[in-house]
Amino acid sequence: MTMIKCISPVNGEVYAERPAMPLELAKQAVAHARLAQKNWARRPIEERVKLVLAGVARLNEMVDEVVPELAWQMGRPVRYGGEFKGFNERSNYVASIAADALKPIIVEESDRFERRIEREPHGVVFVIAPWNYPYMTAINTVAPALMAGNTVIIKHASQTILVGERMVRAFIEAGVPADVFQNLFLDHDTTAALIAAKSFDFINFTGSVEGGRSIERAAAGTFTGLGLELGGKDPGYVMEDADLDAAVDTLMDGATYNSGQCCCGIERIYVHESLYDAFVEKSVAWVSNYKLGNPLDPETTLGPMANKRFAATVRQQVADAVSKGAKALIDPKLFPQDDGGAYLAPQVLVDVDHSMEFMREETFGPAVGIMKVKNDAEAIELMNDCQYGLTVSLWTNDADRASRIGRDLETGTVFMNRADYLDPALCWTGVKETGRGGSLSILGFHNLTRPKSYHLKKVTA
Ligand code: NAP
Repeated sequence: MTMIKCISPVNGEVYAERPAMPLELAKQAVAHARLAQKNWARRPIEERVKLVLAGVARLNEMVDEVVPELAWQMGRPVRYGGEFKGFNERSNYVASIAADALKPIIVEESDRFERRIEREPHGVVFVIAPWNYPYMTAINTVAPALMAGNTVIIKHASQTILVGERMVRAFIEAGVPADVFQNLFLDHDTTAALIAAKSFDFINFTGSVEGGRSIERAAAGTFTGLGLELGGKDPGYVMEDADLDAAVDTLMDGATYNSGQCCCGIERIYVHESLYDAFVEKSVAWVSNYKLGNPLDPETTLGPMANKRFAATVRQQVADAVSKGAKALIDPKLFPQDDGGAYLAPQVLVDVDHSMEFMREETFGPAVGIMKVKNDAEAIELMNDCQYGLTVSLWTNDADRASRIGRDLETGTVFMNRADYLDPALCWTGVKETGRGGSLSILGFHNLTRPKSYHLKKVTA
């Protein structure tokens, strides 16, 4: 029997393991989800929304277990208290718009005709979730999919193997029927075989570009709808009129929070030449304040990366950049806890350029490169010189200028004077290799349902 294991970054030992489900059993679980779906969809939407929110509330009651469990699984310091803020904000927001987002579009309601477009659930929705924000990324699809009348099967990342299990337990304890929301422990082959067998009516995959490609290949020819939320290399651009302290604070937090393991984390920063020196100096001071250590210690502000192989990628990219002329500004002596494995000191690099992998490939760690630019045109060219496009963070006091620049940017979201935040009222989406589709907002509901047109002619004369 294959075991799926979570190796804890805290001590490098197996923290949790579960047997991978054999294909035949997984197919049965999908069949149960399909059977349950029609009844679930027939329930009034208010009832579905209420049950989902009850599941969210039940999970909140588990906070004392969830927070240390997250620290053990993926290394986030307990002082940050889990993901409840974003998890609840997103759930409550989608609940507040569900009825409106799913209501029919009435084209005509007259003595002669009824013409309207209704939104129907897809059926069985498959959610494949990553470990970096394991609750928040999952709820983005789980909550609206269930509210819209789909049944949901979740397969969570091996690194956060307990998260899907816990979410489902909370929802079932809150009254969601067991076949409506199921967690399956699946290896890659079984996942691909289920997808290829047309088991699902819609798949939302959040994870790496490589993972996204595998899922797209598995789904080829099945016509299963796919939402792909993949990697990023998000830039910040600090203009000459920016609030410098606010820019340093938000961009450095965006670059390093969660050990830099955020899909919309800031990975490269372009600063107008007039602010460059001050920005670099303040950024180095900001980052130097971190306390790297055991995430279970309430004093720790920077935990280990989720796995030593992720830290190895960051180390390799930084070393490569330095060998090509980049300068590393954070003194390693400030972070004696860096063990060469999962515990990794943060880093700020200058004298970087786009010939370096560090400035073009996803780093997904607490390291950021800063470059000087002369004007908007140069910044736009550099920001677009990348195969990813999730968010861009612009720093200026001029909203018109930000909008103007935004029109030229190849990205899913344009932020001004903020970063690394997911607004559930807006569509979360990416361009280029960051993927396709969109979640949350009214458009997220549209992506989790399909249109059905009613054209009813009441008089035959
Ligand atoms: P990952 O290795 O691609 O894994 C993501 C999920 O997909 C996991 O559940 C993983 O399962 C599964 N998976 C990967 N390859 C698979 C395959 N061939 N067949 C079946 N399942 C497969 O990504 P990750 O390391 O967990 O997450 C980090 C990445 O996610 C980063 O690139 C980040 O930018 C991206 N991300 C993007 C967004 C966004 O909104 N765009 C949000 C969060 C994260 P196993 O763990 O069992 O391999």
